[in-house]
Amino acid sequence: MQNHTALFWFKRDLRVEDNTGLYHAVTENKEVLPVYVLEDEILSGYSPTSKRLSFFVDALKNLDSELRRLGSYLYVVRGKAEEVLPELIKMHNIDSVYTNRAYGFSGVKRDLGVEHKCRAAEVIYKKFEDTFLVPPAEIDQRKVFTPFYKLWQGRNKRTILELNIKEIKSPALEITPAEEMVRGISRIENTHWPIGLPENRLLEFDYENYKENRDLPFMDGTSMMSPYIRFGVTSIRKVYKSAVNSAKDPDVFISELAWREFWYHIMHYFPETRELEFQEKRRSIRWINNESWYRAWREGRTGYPIVDAGMRQLLEEGWIHNRVRMIVASFLAKDLLTDWRWGDKHFSEHLVDYDEAVDIGNWQWVASCGADPQPFRIFNPLLQSSKFDPDCIYIKKYIPELEDVEPEKIHNPLTYKLPYVSPIVNHYEMRNLAQEAYSGGRIDESYINKLGEDTVFTS
Ligand SMILES: Cc1cc2nc3c(=O)[nH]c(=O)nc-3n(C[C@H](O)[C@H](O)[C@H](O)COP(=O)(O)OP(=O)(O)OC[C@H]3O[C@@H](n4cnc5c(N)ncnc54)[C@H](O)[C@@H]3O)c2cc1C
Repeated sequence: MQNHTALFWFKRDLRVEDNTGLYHAVTENKEVLPVYVLEDEILSGYSPTSKRLSFFVDALKNLDSELRRLGSYLYVVRGKAEEVLPELIKMHNIDSVYTNRAYGFSGVKRDLGVEHKCRAAEVIYKKFEDTFLVPPAEIDQRKVFTPFYKLWQGRNKRTILELNIKEIKSPALEITPAEEMVRGISRIENTHWPIGLPENRLLEFDYENYKENRDLPFMDGTSMMSPYIRFGVTSIRKVYKSAVNSAKDPDVFISELAWREFWYHIMHYFPETRELEFQEKRRSIRWINNESWYRAWREGRTGYPIVDAGMRQLLEEGWIHNRVRMIVASFLAKDLLTDWRWGDKHFSEHLVDYDEAVDIGNWQWVASCGADPQPFRIFNPLLQSSKFDPDCIYIKKYIPELEDVEPEKIHNPLTYKLPYVSPIVNHYEMRNLAQEAYSGGRIDESYINKLGEDTVFTS
């Protein structure tokens, strides 16, 4: 027998299609009240001009339209979920709360708080797995990706559920429309990331040549699904299935989806790595942390064109190509000997796809202090530039000052004077310094004396 009225609580699953918890709420109840709680704690983490915030606001509006097409609506409420949801439960005689399990640190805490309140009020609380192909705790602890991936591949991955919700019956309420509730939250338009993109992109993306194209930032060689996966605008099963259906050998692409799950696996078993380096021996690196270098890095003014193009792409689009993310991250940690946490902070302010567990995992990996340890490596930005953007198509797109300069010169800013900023450091000198700092040695004092007042040493 069907229950009476359920409340469905949306979080990082801003869609109707293939939404596990929503599907159960709709099929197991007569009526469903679809709710999104806009928490001040979440909003205060954003600047009003954040590209991620404008994407999120668009995603909420789109979700409201999807629900309205099915006869329902999105009830957006302001406040703390732990306080607001119990009030709604009382006010609308809710019998049960349905939701998809949260995984981020604050999300898990919030989930538990609401679950506790529901149980105290004798309201059924049902949470579903929806965010991963294989939930992080379902795999025995592994510290290295390859053994993790073997186990992950061996697990039964849920394929997309053909969840065809045709109608959602919801209580007839006088509510402020979602559109109005989110008005003014973001001060900018979401120009780069149309919410409807996955629909065609997943059908048309060239999975077949992903392995060859994905490292070339001047090509349209990666799926660009990360913001949609991050906010659950598209389901992870749908992305997985589209790759499996479209390519003879989708394994390289699938392994990238598994990397996302690996970083959550690491955060699940080693939560202390949210703040601390995974590798204990790397917890005492003496970072230089020079403020003016950090500013130059953030603003795309290091004098290394491939680094600056990446950092300018971030400011313009809220996204950086993965190969270039590795180059800019390595440059910050190794060439500028700046704490990877400073890099994570900047990414958290600007990436549309920012996902704490994934970002921290990747930053630590590039900074050679994380899980899945590799031999200590320092990316050479000059070689990376000529190898992955030989004709400087990517670089010139973001640094128009270099439009008329030959690639040979652009790849060698230490040899040729370019018509924009001069390199702020010498890669080869910094490489030696980084080797010392990473091996626990003292950094050459004569170098430190040159650095000036902006420098805050930390370890
Ligand atoms: C320093 C650094 C920070 C990063 N921060 C984030 C972040 O905050 N959020 C984020 O989603 N990705 C992050 N990444 C991983 C990666 O760069 C992006 O996921 C990728 O560039 C997104 O583009 P795409 O969707 O076109 O990827 P595709 O190449 O098409 O890959 C498909 C999907 O696989 C996943 N994926 C791909 N590469 C990785 C990876 N290295 N680690 C984990 N998942 C991956 C993403 O969900 C991605 O959408 C970071 C990488 C680095 C080096």
